[in-house]
Amino acid sequence: RQALYAAMRDVEPVSADGQRVRVMINAGLRDDMPMLNLTGADGIGLFRTEFQFLVSATLPARERQTRLYRDVLDAAGDRPVVFRTVDIGGDKVLPYLRHNDGETEENPAMGWRALRVALERDGLLKVQARALLEAAGGRTLNVMFPMVTEPWEFDAARAVFESQLAFLKQQKKLLPDAIRYGAMLEVPALAEYLDVLAPRLSFLSIGTNDLTQFLFAADRANPKLAERYDWLSPAILRFLRRVVLAVAPFGTDVTVCGEMGGRRLEALALLGIGITRLSITPAAVGPIKELVRKVELPAIQAAMAGWLANPPADLRAEIAAWATAHGI
Ligand code: PEP
Ligand code: MG
Repeated sequence: RQALYAAMRDVEPVSADGQRVRVMINAGLRDDMPMLNLTGADGIGLFRTEFQFLVSATLPARERQTRLYRDVLDAAGDRPVVFRTVDIGGDKVLPYLRHNDGETEENPAMGWRALRVALERDGLLKVQARALLEAAGGRTLNVMFPMVTEPWEFDAARAVFESQLAFLKQQKKLLPDAIRYGAMLEVPALAEYLDVLAPRLSFLSIGTNDLTQFLFAADRANPKLAERYDWLSPAILRFLRRVVLAVAPFGTDVTVCGEMGGRRLEALALLGIGITRLSITPAAVGPIKELVRKVELPAIQAAMAGWLANPPADLRAEIAAWATAHGI
């Protein structure tokens, strides 16, 4: 099978009915970059910038951040890279970044993390914004914010970038040709604001790892709960379909960047609710491209609409049977 997936490298993920699906990878380090060529992925749909912070003993200086982002963009060439601003705090504790009160949290996953930290310690976000804007001079910068819960947080984070941009302009530095700002949908509350937020977004990226843990109130890191819910449950898929429909009038690109998209039946289900952009673990790119090429999107969309209107007792079993019946 390894050989098969190497052979998939130069094959485009076009569905059986001719629609081009985007299959991108999740990355976070310089060492991940060769994966782009090895897999033939369409780009990096999620670059987890906090990895550099996690492997450093001290807060990475701006120049070091700029160098990393520039190297990543150089390695990606024409393929897009979506940088996610730091998602630290919570369980990703950094010795050099502590709570004001130095206390540990009882529920770190829904605690002081991600954009909540970045907006409070805005020095952190300013430095990262400047590093990203400088690294993307003369190219397109795609940046997204993690754990956005209400639209004002997106606006505040974007404003930090805009003020750094104004500063760089004043300094006559080479600016990005274009800046695309996106939000991650990981907190269910944000789904209730999409009509308000979508007009301000260049793209939306759904982080199903966090989103499902919050939808099901089930800690993603607790192995005792791993069997308690299924990514192929009507609750998740109905929720995601509502998100797709809510932003459709605005023409907003929607990507799923959680691990869910790298699994065969889950990817099939996502195609069935109208998701055509996936960002997944590199090892899954070959298998998912192979899957995409076998699927008639209108057929799985029709099947999915039926299942979600009248949820069967075991949706996973229905989807698996459908896949087998369609030679997938
Ligand atoms: C997610 O939550 O689905 C996601 C992609 O972000 P992370 O896994 O880094 O939290
Ligand atoms: Mg997340």
